[in-house]
Amino acid sequence: MSIKLDTVTYTYGVGSPFERTALHETSVEIHEGEFVGIIGHTGSGKSTFVQLLNGLIHPTKGVVTVDGTDISKKTKEVMAIRHKVGMVFQYPEYQLFEETIAKDIAFGPRNFGLSEDEIEERVREAMEFVGLDYDTYADRSPFRLSGGQMRRVAIAGVIAIHPKYLILDEPSAGLDPVGRREIFSEIQRWHKEKNITVILVSHNMEDISQMATRLLVLSHGNIVLDGEPLD
Ligand code: ATP
Ligand code: MG
Repeated sequence: MSIKLDTVTYTYGVGSPFERTALHETSVEIHEGEFVGIIGHTGSGKSTFVQLLNGLIHPTKGVVTVDGTDISKKTKEVMAIRHKVGMVFQYPEYQLFEETIAKDIAFGPRNFGLSEDEIEERVREAMEFVGLDYDTYADRSPFRLSGGQMRRVAIAGVIAIHPKYLILDEPSAGLDPVGRREIFSEIQRWHKEKNITVILVSHNMEDISQMATRLLVLSHGNIVLDGEPLD
């Protein structure tokens, strides 16, 4: 089982004056159980790359498969597979939309035919994961939060779907050092105990070298290095 890019090119604004190729004929396979760190300078294509893995955008050329299925189609099978891939966006405010934090986090699990009790259990577990006290925060509005709190809610919303592949695009921005350590230690625990595959985009090489089992370096829309991170 894996997420695979097969000679994928992604171009923004095809045919417009702003046309820009952000990923060039890239092939890579991320296997189940890996912890992949992704680094690269600003504009090197990291967010474009992970949005392709998640199926948020589709290749201009080439194919992305999750567990062997092309995710650019809109079949029922693809919808089921896309729910296995959870992504925390670089800008978490794009991910919040419900009027309370509990409802926001419950949004994903609602797709899986769970009972109300099971959904509440998922919300509690996810809030604990990110260090948000349920009784204090469940009924608050997600739009009246600090950047770090918004980040926590966005991560919790993804954790609540129990993703098989967890993609995090700069997840520690806005978090204080203690919160960051706590959340990363939970992510590592799930990686080990539940064997979830983690794909972490970060400018922080220290985080990546502490946790990742594989490092991808992007430069100008190409993977220029694929190997083990050094300490
Ligand atoms: P950062 O470290 O700043 O988050 P990144 O590595 O995530 O950068 P991307 O956001 O993937 O970089 O952008 C890659 C290239 O694609 C950049 O040159 C950027 O200008 C361009 N790009 C990104 N989003 C768009 C868009 N919506 N429309 C046009 N071009 C875009
Ligand atoms: Mg980015």
